[in-house]
Amino acid sequence: MTQLPLRAQLASALGRTAATLSRATGRGDGSVIGGRVGLALEPDLLRKLAQDRKLALVSATNGKTTTTRLITSALQELGEVATNAFGANMPAGHVSALSSAKDAPYGVLEVDEKYLPEVIDTTGAGVIVLMNLSRDQMDRAGEIWLLAQKWRRALAGKNTHVIANADDPLVTWGASTATRVTWVSAGQPWKEDSWCCPECGGPLDRKGMEYTPPGGGVSGAAVSRTAENDWACRECTFRRPETTWILDDDAVIDPRGHRWVLDIQLPGRANRANAVIALATAETFGLPIQRALPRLRQVTSVAGRYTTVERDGRHARLLLAKNPAGWLEAFDVLDRSLPVILSVNAQGPDGRDTSWLWDVDYRVLRGRPVYVTGERRLDLALRLDVAAVPFQLAASFEQALAAQPPGKVDVIANYTAFQQIRSEFGRAV
Ligand SMILES: [Zn+2]
Repeated sequence: MTQLPLRAQLASALGRTAATLSRATGRGDGSVIGGRVGLALEPDLLRKLAQDRKLALVSATNGKTTTTRLITSALQELGEVATNAFGANMPAGHVSALSSAKDAPYGVLEVDEKYLPEVIDTTGAGVIVLMNLSRDQMDRAGEIWLLAQKWRRALAGKNTHVIANADDPLVTWGASTATRVTWVSAGQPWKEDSWCCPECGGPLDRKGMEYTPPGGGVSGAAVSRTAENDWACRECTFRRPETTWILDDDAVIDPRGHRWVLDIQLPGRANRANAVIALATAETFGLPIQRALPRLRQVTSVAGRYTTVERDGRHARLLLAKNPAGWLEAFDVLDRSLPVILSVNAQGPDGRDTSWLWDVDYRVLRGRPVYVTGERRLDLALRLDVAAVPFQLAASFEQALAAQPPGKVDVIANYTAFQQIRSEFGRAV
């Protein structure tokens, strides 16, 4: 790599010092404060740090931290990779990630959806990974449409390679101004934000299970799976593009038509989708699937997600769910034979408004013991009551856990509730 100019070197070094101080004084991992110090001294620092590296930016409503981790793990097969492993996904976090791995030839950066256009411009990243867009705790459908429109503008005319989930109509629309796109069929269980065509506002037709693929209907799993996810606008020409990578239950079908069992350790459909996206991304870096896949299988947990905390013989597996689509994915991971503890807060990062709880269908929880806790447990309790899901209230997570018989229990928590449980219950086991 070429040397950074002196000012940028200095800004980068001071940023690292600030990060170290922040860690030493117990103020978190320091990546945001370090990056802010660096950017204050050299506003062009991110551009300079990004130069001469092969970069992938990863953005989505859900799964971006995990997918960033999976892609990083794969690319480590090729060499050192700079990455923002702790989810600091705005420019200060990117500065910190790149300056703490100065000589890494590769970088994989998780990027907040709203910051993506700016970060594309600043870093000139060669690879952009786009997975899903749905209402968040703070954004409603109209706002995510505006977001996709900004992605379109940011990608138009750029010399980038986009890896995008073609099963999500809004992501497809957001990616389709790019000159080069690898379309992946990664699925879309949450469809509530994509009944309308993003191009013209007309209704989107979706092919259900009964859909017969052109040319017959007797088919391998790959064909039926693709058909299941097919969609098209009834009123304009906007429709799902042909895909070259396909998630097929527990396997992936690569562009040559070969089927590989994923066999990853991270649980659930959402993580298999993340893995397929990661494999498609790795291939754009020249890494073949047979070298990338074993790397993905080594990842067991990501920033505390899917880890287990233990107290008095109760082993609680932690699942993070921040928005309606995230809850749907978490339900998919639950062990049906186990009780489940749900914890909901409404602090700043969660969004103060809990009305999004009403967008989730909780009926799948019927028939197992359900405990409800967190600062906004009454909001969730009312919602469960309306859905006729029996539950018990607990004043704290500790109480909810103590109410369980010894053994395993699943926990779904939103952002600050998840972080509270992690910090109170100490080191994950
Ligand atoms: Zn249309």
